Amino acid sequence: MKCNYSNKEQSLLKELVKGQHPLTCVICCSDSRVIPEKIFDKTFGELFVIRTAGNVINEGELASIEYALEHLKVKEVIVLAHTHCGAIHASIHQEKSKYMDVILNRIYKNIDGEMNETKASELNAKKEVLYLKDKFNNHQDKFIAMIYDIEKLEVRGI
Ligand SMILES: [Zn+2]
Repeated sequence: MKCNYSNKEQSLLKELVKGQHPLTCVICCSDSRVIPEKIFDKTFGELFVIRTAGNVINEGELASIEYALEHLKVKEVIVLAHTHCGAIHASIHQEKSKYMDVILNRIYKNIDGEMNETKASELNAKKEVLYLKDKFNNHQDKFIAMIYDIEKLEVRGI
């Protein structure tokens, strides 16, 4: 299947074959309604995106973030939460699963008993930012927590 890109996108991608130089790393949920390039009005080559359910950061994500900071030299790292997050909902309600526990347990710890799902999403992202500041303390000022509201179609810092 040939990808259906516009002529402008095709010529941009031809340039990007030489290498990528994104300025921003985004860690966001795998939720199909959350598309960081759309949210931030960006295109190919602009965002280095790491997606995991509930935008949680485990070992693999840490390695990708290290790559973004040390090799790509991104200027900012955004942990992007969103409203109506299934992972947050599952964690609040302590749903059990075969493999998702690694994500749900981390969120559960991050949200510290918060039952309001939007507030819990915000807390989760803010805790992940604190975690990143601790892990990469020579890049402290680069980490930002934000939340995307899937009803209001707005993104804001938290
Ligand atoms: Zn989500």
